[in-house]
Amino acid sequence: MSRTRHQPIRTCVACRQTDEKRDLLRVVRLASGGVAYDPRGKMSGRGAYVCARVSCIALARRRKGLERSLKIGEIPEAVFEELLRHATPEPGQSRPGSAISGTGSEGTSVPHVPSEGEEA
Ligand SMILES: [Zn+2]
Repeated sequence: MSRTRHQPIRTCVACRQTDEKRDLLRVVRLASGGVAYDPRGKMSGRGAYVCARVSCIALARRRKGLERSLKIGEIPEAVFEELLRHATPEPGQSRPGSAISGTGSEGTSVPHVPSEGEEA
């Protein structure tokens, strides 16, 4: 039971935003010198964050933001592929985790029955 409540500020290496509500993907530098996508954010090691957005991942890749943050030479292609797999395609979606249920509920409308004695 030695759980520290210290919460590091997560900053996207691409857009530099620190919105906690935003879904950030964590990349961790392994002790072996490699890099890995950390889906649960619990791997030990130096971590860097990027938004779960294709645009931010692409920007981080181009600017080498993750490399700079982790102080490593180069992020393997496989890591970026992994990140992109978890990215939210549409920027308008604020909750990528929730599944989109069918919205086409057209059978619920009550048919209009003209009542007698109703005059305009
Ligand atoms: Zn970002």
